Amino acid sequence: MSEAPASPAKVYFTNLRTHGRESQLDKLKRLIRRAGIDQIDFENKFVAIKIHFGELGNLAFLRSNYARAVADVVKELGGKPFLTDCNTLYVGSRKNALEHIDCAYQNGFTPYATGCHVIIADGLKGTDETLVSVKNGEYVQEAKIGHALMDADVVISLTHFKGHEGAGFGGAMKNLGMGGGSRAGKMEQHASGKPSVTTEKCIGCRACERICAHGAISFEGTRERELANGTTREIHVAEIDHDRCVGCGRCIGVCNQDAIAADYGAAAEVLNYKIAEYTQAIVQDRPNFHISLAIDVSPNCDCHSENDTPIVPDVGMFASFDPVAIDQACADAVMAQDTLPDTELTESRARLEEAGALDEEHAHDHFYVTHPDTAWQAMVEHGEKIGLGTREYELVEVR
Ligand code: SF4
Ligand code: SF4
Repeated sequence: MSEAPASPAKVYFTNLRTHGRESQLDKLKRLIRRAGIDQIDFENKFVAIKIHFGELGNLAFLRSNYARAVADVVKELGGKPFLTDCNTLYVGSRKNALEHIDCAYQNGFTPYATGCHVIIADGLKGTDETLVSVKNGEYVQEAKIGHALMDADVVISLTHFKGHEGAGFGGAMKNLGMGGGSRAGKMEQHASGKPSVTTEKCIGCRACERICAHGAISFEGTRERELANGTTREIHVAEIDHDRCVGCGRCIGVCNQDAIAADYGAAAEVLNYKIAEYTQAIVQDRPNFHISLAIDVSPNCDCHSENDTPIVPDVGMFASFDPVAIDQACADAVMAQDTLPDTELTESRARLEEAGALDEEHAHDHFYVTHPDTAWQAMVEHGEKIGLGTREYELVEVR
């Protein structure tokens, strides 16, 4: 809603237990009604349900059944829901509207399954955008938001809460702010988070070069590589041209030598500041509501065409009018979980401990341990600072 966020904000939560004949989908509907979704005037309103359809090959994204449940409630309340997302920066299965819709359908988000249509908010090539002045914005003058998302009368985020290699975690703000940005909007958010190559780790496999859509990686430099038989060989190593790089991060994920890392520190924080400001641009002055499911808590974004095992057990479902509070509540709930064995988190923890790089402050931060170069707190702190919401929340359990 447009008025200043209440503090503490109410965040409604239910676990995944079911009793009697009530399904988890029924429970989700009950949760969002209890959280007050019917306070929004949906009558004949276009309602954007912002969701991530999942990259082809990924299996951690939210099932279409959840989208159906939310769309059904919106329709029961008189609204006209549609599912939406914007195109990606990187080359994958969602880089233009046609492929994006194909991907959504292949992943189950057909009108038959969900009862509503898919509209790619920033159009065929990711250029259909609306420029939006950000209230209290410090890092973004005019956010570039997918046009259909800004055209909607009501915005609902339906988020798969998980880890994220750039933001630390992917919650409501990441779903809306980064996901709702047009291609130029995504570039603006990523611009200060450009990665570099640690030459000594690079083995010259060129996987990064193949996945880079911007021709930013070259192999002019060389180094001596020690081979298994004790001899050395000169190899060409990767180098990233920051003038061409858009900071999409695909090369980081594809490098199995961990030779590429974002130049974080301030950049990781600025990325999250911008995500908060993009979220502000999308929800300011419009009714908005947020639903996050902390299930299949994978270490990385659903943008990956694969998904590693979850880092913690399934937690449950959350709903709130406050995008900052729901992200903080989900983060707290995930970090309260014991970690699962043999995950990206446990591997990263072992590396940090071996290097003596895990201090007490971060030892129990599952997102930091999984992605030590990220700074998720910057997103919720900045979201609070610009009046998007509050980190203070009251958790209301719905049984
Ligand atoms: S993917 Fe990694 S190891 Fe392979 S060339 Fe790129 S930086 Fe080097
Ligand atoms: S982050 Fe990596 S893949 Fe993306 S544009 Fe830059 S160099 Fe290319």
